[in-house]
Amino acid sequence: MINSEKPSFYSHGSYGATLFDPRWREKRQRILQRDKNKCVICNAIENLHVHHRQYHFSKSLNRFKNPWEYSDSLLITLCESCHGRGHNKYTVPTKYIK
Ligand SMILES: [Zn+2]
Ligand SMILES: [Zn+2]
Repeated sequence: MINSEKPSFYSHGSYGATLFDPRWREKRQRILQRDKNKCVICNAIENLHVHHRQYHFSKSLNRFKNPWEYSDSLLITLCESCHGRGHNKYTVPTKYIK
């Protein structure tokens, strides 16, 4: 699912440096805790991912936001299979912001 048109965190840090960024780790932990460490769709407790419901492209910065720069309301906890299914079914909308 690597697509050069997508931001580098398309797979939410399963590869690349963002996984190791302490800002993302902290943000991710907060989302997982908020969602009680369960997939919000099927309640699975293993292989959890934090999914972005939107991608924001900043026109002033000329780049996508970093994964940890999104508000909590745009992030949800999904297990690997619900996450993969969601991405097959829907395209995450990209919003262009200032
Ligand atoms: Zn996702
Ligand atoms: Zn699930």
